Amino acid sequence: MTTTKILIVDDRPENLLTLERLLDSPNLEVIKAHSGEEALGLTLDHDLALVLLDVKMPGMDGYEVAELMRSSRKTKGIPIIFVTAELQGDHHLFKGYESGAVDYLFKPLNPVVLKSKVAVFIELFRQKLELQQITVELDRKVAELEDMQQQLEETNEQLLLLSVTDGLTGLLNRRQFDKLLMEEWKRSFRTKKHLSLIILDIDHFKAYNDTYGHAAGDECLKQVARTIAETVRREADKVARIGGEEFGIILPETDAQGCSHVAELTRQEIERLAIEHTGSKTSEVVTVSIGVASQVAEECNATSRTLFQTADQALYRAKEKGRNRIELSGNSFFEGPVNNPLG
Ligand code: GH3
Ligand code: MG
Ligand code: MG
Repeated sequence: MTTTKILIVDDRPENLLTLERLLDSPNLEVIKAHSGEEALGLTLDHDLALVLLDVKMPGMDGYEVAELMRSSRKTKGIPIIFVTAELQGDHHLFKGYESGAVDYLFKPLNPVVLKSKVAVFIELFRQKLELQQITVELDRKVAELEDMQQQLEETNEQLLLLSVTDGLTGLLNRRQFDKLLMEEWKRSFRTKKHLSLIILDIDHFKAYNDTYGHAAGDECLKQVARTIAETVRREADKVARIGGEEFGIILPETDAQGCSHVAELTRQEIERLAIEHTGSKTSEVVTVSIGVASQVAEECNATSRTLFQTADQALYRAKEKGRNRIELSGNSFFEGPVNNPLG
């Protein structure tokens, strides 16, 4: 157990000695002051459990010491017991309480009363220390928990990001694409505004891999992905990698004309990248074929799936017609096979 310090203040050395003798105990350090001034200095130097303060002293008396102790942040919490020869009326008592007394002891001191009062304050002091320790420990734990919470939130954010994005290109993944397409389809049904979909497929990409290797193929995919993302500027438009070398662009509130414009711009931008492709039967550089569908979600039989299939059929036609081009689906979902030159 650590030592507890108490300060005894009296101008008469024999009183100090008596008090010291009475208080003598193994875990108690008794510090002596012979005047109010000395006492104040000592209260600043030590972490005290209690001050036994003589009231009548030449120079600064006990009440003044107590008042000064109460006015300092470091000492205002230290309990004080005034030690006084006699109490001349209540106003003395009140003066003591106003200056911060916690208790009184009367001379001649009764050893039993003295010891039991001091014991109470020592116990309080130990409990205060214990509480301080617990508070420090708790603060540390709280800080630790806050750290962990932040890490958890960051991990969750990363997980969320991973669950919706494609690892290679950083675009949205197929799952997220399907989900968003369905949501946008429902929105189109409510707003009666066109929803457009672009599906884009790199031409002869198998040959690209065969010519330049899989790693170069990956690089090419990344470049194409970046170009699509940079070309599609509107906040509401969503770009996803929906297959190996296939990309989807969802364009809410965009009609066939607007969406064909974006599709053509994207096709040109990819061609302008001028990524050499000697294995292509279409061009000397990497090109894409594009299928476009645009529709207001009115048909009760149609779903977002139907919109996708329609765009996919248009893409198929673009491939068949010689690649590196865009094909727009018919305005109705149900005319696809009829209009399809292959159908
Ligand atoms: P088409 O012009 O008809 O679209 O021909 P294509 O060769 O592009 O189409 P096909 O479906 O025959 O081949 C697609 C190729 O894309 C096959 C596969 O090796 C390649 N591919 C798919 N995913 C990846 C990928 O993540 N990285 C790389 N490097 N290649 C991929
Ligand atoms: Mg493909
Ligand atoms: Mg392809």
